[in-house]
Amino acid sequence: MRKLISQVVGCGTRLTISSWSDSRRGIGCGGDVVAARLNEIAKESGGKLQVVVDKFEMTSARTGDKPVAMENVYAILPGTDEKLAKTVFIVSGHMDSRASDPMKAELDAPGADDDASGVAVSVECARLLSKKPTNRATLIFAVVSGEEQGLLGSTHMVEWVAQQGYKVGGMLDDDIVGADPAAGAPHRVRLFSGNGEIDDADSSSRELARAIEEIDGRAAIRMVFRVDRYGRGGDHYPFYKAGLPAVRFTEPLENYDHQHQTPRAENGVEYGDLEKYLNFTFMGDVARDNAEALRQLALAPAAPTNARLTGAVTSDAKISWAAGEDEDRAGFEILWRETTEARWRVFDLAMSAGETVLKGVSTDNHFFAVRAVGKNGARSIAVPTEMERRPPPLPSPKQ
Ligand SMILES: [Zn+2]
Repeated sequence: MRKLISQVVGCGTRLTISSWSDSRRGIGCGGDVVAARLNEIAKESGGKLQVVVDKFEMTSARTGDKPVAMENVYAILPGTDEKLAKTVFIVSGHMDSRASDPMKAELDAPGADDDASGVAVSVECARLLSKKPTNRATLIFAVVSGEEQGLLGSTHMVEWVAQQGYKVGGMLDDDIVGADPAAGAPHRVRLFSGNGEIDDADSSSRELARAIEEIDGRAAIRMVFRVDRYGRGGDHYPFYKAGLPAVRFTEPLENYDHQHQTPRAENGVEYGDLEKYLNFTFMGDVARDNAEALRQLALAPAAPTNARLTGAVTSDAKISWAAGEDEDRAGFEILWRETTEARWRVFDLAMSAGETVLKGVSTDNHFFAVRAVGKNGARSIAVPTEMERRPPPLPSPKQ
């Protein structure tokens, strides 16, 4: 990871609107470094990992409102299960960097933390998981461009994934995951997830965050129930807005002198996103946390669908859900939690999909969800139940 970061930082700037053809300076130089490393890993995998360079054009205010050529790189590790192979779990970092002025390619923009660190995490996950692949679902290790010009590469990736006929099982965005300067490091990496828009049922992104915390442990992950930091955005956002499960990993406490700053010294303060501020112990932990979450999620059966809660104004809660055939599935866990609780608990087990009656359980005092469990012990993300119809307590019309 250290070598890869050093090489891409050596490209001077990786501003998306810098040169794609100059092999020594600009984003093309960074792209070459990453593609070469992924191809090396692909070779070591005996050809199981496939590297795809996706070229496209995007337009935004930060491309001067003109279409600009861009590239994303995807390393794809196909799933071994026929039915699950069209489900993808994605880890992504962004190749591009920026200086104080996001329109000036002549300024240096080392971007060691933002986001060479995320690129290194994505590439390291490719290395770790392609050595002896076990994934039933497909894994994509992505390195995208255009983040700093308006999440352009990631917005394009949402479309690309759909065009390939993939269903997104989960998207892990790693952006600014390289530094942990406070005493006592390594600290927990932050994991941001948006609420969603359905009353009484969290978004699939929140459920992805819960699954990752459960896999990696509370000592490793600090869940933040918020789509992102205030005033900031990231590549998980286009996925989240499309209703797909997507979360963002970010270091514990950011130093804004070291982000989006042209390297310089001013009044005794050093500005710039430089390699010397990185903490490789912390970053290695983040890479392993991502890889282990991807490994387990890609081993799990498909998440249930159509999870419903009925039984309002009765003494029993009724939960129903659907699921396709999967002979490697052991069954389902019915989950519940207090409405004030952050995390699920297992309420009961069910062998097959359909309806389960929770005797003597009120619909009103808990939230409910269902997840699938494999014979290998791997669990899908939880699918919260939605109330099919919840008549509002309207006042009776005046006569
Ligand atoms: Zn970033």
